[in-house]
Amino acid sequence: MGWVETRRRRTSLGPGSRPCDVCGSEDVSLTESRRVRQGLDRLNPAFKAEARRYELCAGCGSKREPA
Ligand SMILES: [Zn+2]
Repeated sequence: MGWVETRRRRTSLGPGSRPCDVCGSEDVSLTESRRVRQGLDRLNPAFKAEARRYELCAGCGSKREPA
């Protein structure tokens, strides 16, 4: 199933709203993750590059919903 894997592109949108809940690090960034069109998606007219936003901690890698 590896050939249909979904790739996502991450874009940093700036600093997060508050320190990490898990490890307390202040190195948290608001991140947008967007699907990258590839493979069969190129033939799919219904493809949507849905974007998700979350806050990502650089210290422990945890994600949470943006405030
Ligand atoms: Zn953390």
